[in-house]
Amino acid sequence: MSKAIKKIAVLTSGGDSPGMNAAIRSVVRTCAYHNIECVGVYRGYEGLIEGDFKQMDARSVRGIINKGGTILKSARSKEFRTKEGRQKAFEKLAQNDIEGLVVVGGDGSFTGAMIFNEEFGFPVMGIPGTIDNDIVGTSHTLGFDTALNTVVDAIDKIRDTASSHNRLFFIEVMGRDVGHIALNVGIAGGAEEILIPEEDLGLDRLVESLNKSRSSGKTSSIVIVAEGDKIGKNIFELKDYVDENMENYDVRVSVLGHMQRGGSPSCFDRVLASRMGVKAVESMLEGKTNFMVGLMNGNMELTPLEMAIKGKTKINLELLRVSDIMSI
Ligand code: ATP
Repeated sequence: MSKAIKKIAVLTSGGDSPGMNAAIRSVVRTCAYHNIECVGVYRGYEGLIEGDFKQMDARSVRGIINKGGTILKSARSKEFRTKEGRQKAFEKLAQNDIEGLVVVGGDGSFTGAMIFNEEFGFPVMGIPGTIDNDIVGTSHTLGFDTALNTVVDAIDKIRDTASSHNRLFFIEVMGRDVGHIALNVGIAGGAEEILIPEEDLGLDRLVESLNKSRSSGKTSSIVIVAEGDKIGKNIFELKDYVDENMENYDVRVSVLGHMQRGGSPSCFDRVLASRMGVKAVESMLEGKTNFMVGLMNGNMELTPLEMAIKGKTKINLELLRVSDIMSI
């Protein structure tokens, strides 16, 4: 393994996700293992521009593998979107003898990393950290599994009150552009219907499905609604619609919101983060740049950042069918 690089920086950027700390820990410890220096950058690209750096060693990441959020903090940086901002960031890296950058974040963060690499030839490597699972080149993004477990736990609790009062609950989950969270938690939480951005169920079919549920003997119902669903009504308007168009329904709404992004990472996310950190650092030491590490068919693989950014993940049609069958 060639070790031309002697010092690597790591930052977390965009929306936080559970497992980011485990990824930071893995990057720092892999650097220590290969006897290279590692620097943590606070507040994503914002801190990169300001030179808000902290030297890290194997011991400085103790006790964080089980913590949600990110000890390095995350931020969205307008200045990094400008050439001047990126120039400042490059100068800070050069002044500190940093020769490679690992970015843990979503597609926006990867776009910034790719542009930075194109402009300055600076080695970059991406670790996909977002709960949405909307990045091509990995079957799982970091935090997705934890978010699913958090949401299923919430649905189970709502189900308890729904069945005690014979209620219908609309539960909104994250997913502006993709329905991966909604589809999975809908199946795991036994939802009657799942509304996702990828398909428009239509109000008529929703009403028909709820009527069918009731006539089949169900006394409570749960409908999972992804933030970006295409039915054309927000979750409160949906409630009003059902109130107006269906008799004898006691309808409630629950918007889960940011709790979906928090919490201690699952075992799966901790292992994934550890693997991704090792792969990111070792790929960089092998001279690779401008890639994202991902989990593909059980293995750690590299995907060019450009493909990871431009590609669009597809909803699993088999899961849609399973959901239809289960809600009979
Ligand atoms: P999430 O999926 O949680 O939204 P993200 O990484 O996509 O995470 P963004 O807010 O889109 O989050 O991007 C994070 C940061 O990356 C931005 O604040 C900006 O600093 C940088 N960035 C995004 N797009 C660009 C771009 N086109 N050029 C330069 N920098 C960018």
